[in-house]
Order: sequence, then C-alpha cells, then structure tokens
Amino acid sequence: MSEQIVIKSHKGPYTVFFNNDLLVEPEQLLAGTPHFLIDSRVAHLYRQQLGAILDHPHVIAITATEENKSIGRIIPIIEQLVANKIRRDHVLVAIGGGILQDITCFIASTLLRGIPWKFVPTTLLAQADSCIGSKSSINLGPTKNILGTFNPPNEIFICQSFLDTLEAKEVLSGVGEIIKVHAIEGKEAFDSLARDYDRLLHDRATLLHYIHAALRIKQRFIEVDEFDRGVRNIFNYGHSFGHAIESATDFSVPHGIAVAMGMDMANRISVLRGWLPERQFERMHGVLLKNHALFSKTPIPMDLFMGALMKDKKNTATKLVLILPHGEETRIERVQVDGDELFRRQCERFLQDLSRSVMA
Ligand code: NAD
Repeated sequence: MSEQIVIKSHKGPYTVFFNNDLLVEPEQLLAGTPHFLIDSRVAHLYRQQLGAILDHPHVIAITATEENKSIGRIIPIIEQLVANKIRRDHVLVAIGGGILQDITCFIASTLLRGIPWKFVPTTLLAQADSCIGSKSSINLGPTKNILGTFNPPNEIFICQSFLDTLEAKEVLSGVGEIIKVHAIEGKEAFDSLARDYDRLLHDRATLLHYIHAALRIKQRFIEVDEFDRGVRNIFNYGHSFGHAIESATDFSVPHGIAVAMGMDMANRISVLRGWLPERQFERMHGVLLKNHALFSKTPIPMDLFMGALMKDKKNTATKLVLILPHGEETRIERVQVDGDELFRRQCERFLQDLSRSVMA
C-alpha cells in the first residue's frame, strides 16, 4: 500500500488508501460481516478477480443507472438487506462509481439509523472527486439529487486497475470534475492541467498525479465546510448548468462532461454580463471544449433545460443561485441572478455558438 490521505469529518477521520493490490488481495473488504452492493457491470468485468467477494452470501448487484438511484428503486435493496439480517455492527461495502456510492451512502445513513460503510470507487469520477466529501444524493422521480445525507465512508480504497475497463466517455467524465477542481484552485493550477490534458488521457502516472491533486484540493474545502454552507459552495461550479444539461438530455451526457459544458456556459454568461474578460473565457474554453466535444452536438431542448435549472436546489424562492467566474483572476463566486428572458437568451446563445463552432 502506498500513499494515504486522511480526511477529517464530523464522524471522525477516514482514510483514502491508494491500493493497487486490492484485486489480488481483497481480504480488507471481507473483514467483519460485510454486505456488498456492487455495480453489475463491474461484477461482470472483474468476475475472476472479485471471485472471493462475488461468492460471498451477501452480494447485491445493481445496474448503475439514474433510475436505479431513485428512492423507489432503493426500497427493494433495503428489503434484501433486511432479509439478509443486516445489523448495526455489520458493514456495507460499495463497489462501483458515483451511482453505487450514492445508493450505499444513503442506505448506510438511514437503515438502522446508521451502518458503517466502505467504498471502492471504480470510475475516474468517483476516484478523483466524489469518493470524499460525505454527500449522498438520491433522485425523486425525474428530480435529480433532491434527497440526501452527509455520511462519509469509514474507508476508501482506490485501485487504479479498475480504470483499465472504463469507456472513453467515462474517462472524460472524470476528467471534467478534475478540471473543475483545478479551476477552483486558480489560474496556475488550471493552466498546468490544460497543458497536461492530452498526456493525462494516455499516461497513467500523469492521471494518478491529478487524481491525488484533485483530492488534496477538495480536502481543504470539505474539511472546513463539510456541510456545504459556505466556501464549499463553489464546488458547484458548472453544476447547476450541468445538472440541467443532464436532465434535458435524459442523462445521455455523462455527469462530468455535462459539468465541463456547464463551466463553459457559466464562463460565457459571465462574459455576456460583463463580469469576466473575454480573454479569460478563451483561456479556459480550449480545454473545456476538448473535454465536452464528443457531446457538444447533443440537442438540448431549451424548455427542458430552463425547467431543470429553475428547480435547482440551491435557488432561493425568487432567484437562481449560480457559481460564476469573475475578473482577470477568474475568481469562482456564488451569485444570484434572475431566471428571466435575458438569462434564457444568454444560455441559448452559448449553445448556438457551440453548435456552430463544432460544425465549423
Ligand atoms: P456511474 O456510477 O454512473 O457509472 C458510469 C458507468 O460506468 C456505468 O455504466 C457503470 O456500470 C460503469 N462502470 C463503473 N465502473 C466501471 C469500470 N471499472 N469499468 C467499466 N465500467 C464501469 O459513474 P460516475 O460517473 O462515477 O457517477 C455518476 C453519478 O455520481 C451521478 O449520479 C452523479 O450525480 C453522482 N455524483 C455523486 C457525487 C457525490 O458526492 N455523492 C459527486 C459527483 C457525482
């Protein structure tokens, strides 16, 4: 086992282990009385390596879809855990990406008023970003992430071998969140990532460097504002727009890619409102576009997009609450804007310019 990161939380410290031997030595996951919730695709792809886990009597395989992350679909999983006689001194173990994380974290917070849980993130997005920070987010019908809790896992095991089987779009999705964290860190961090962008897609050591860096940056914010009441808010940069893009496209755009497109849109809206110099938009646009280009032509119905944006849980009763960049330093700040006709036209203009530039 190599480096570890210890994160402070309201539940006490928890550790991120970087353990690339996990697939050959899964003992750490079999200790105590575990109940496994595993992404069915991961179970299939790693059938051989995860044999000792998959042969365990308490394994529930779940297909990682947004529908399965809804409150209604979680009830049968809880029923199964109860039928398997789960107790408070047992441990839930999630193996999968953000969807398995959200489902397990939510159940671990509420079932029997709290059960310890461990997480083995298998996507880049979960390894570089979502695995720390305590949040669970569950959908209610079509409304994304409206239910949730703050409940970090007791241990996280990052095993980079899982990245070998990710589809290209899932790698890009994880990179989208890595870009976001570096944008929040500042111009220097963002520009250095932009320079390394092509290399990190093909070189595992470079990617691992950025997974560490992203977790370290996020750690600083979640340790002072775990419950997202203050400074941590800026981690929602690109997210209001991103969630609206996901929702308006029926989740055909992967989360981190929608966030990259959302950051690009946030930057354009800041320029149109005179808050961000055009050259700062251009400085960031190149790498953001590289990240979301595969999906830049996806039609985004404006009414569905605006409807989803208006429902964002950060909004006040009368205003949209957005995270937008400001000034030469591209400071990422929380602002309130009217969701009026002007705002709609500015969003539309970004999307039109985007489809023109990708067609050209
Ligand atoms: P995911 O869980 O949606 O999985 C994406 C796809 O990758 C699925 O088809 C899955 O089966 C597959 N997959 C997973 N691991 C694989 C592997 N090793 N090899 C091949 N395929 C694999 O992926 P995600 O992007 O990690 O998660 C997105 C979800 O996470 C969204 O629902 C989002 O809202 C949520 N999220 C939560 C937080 C949080 O803090 N709780 C933060 C960000 C995102």
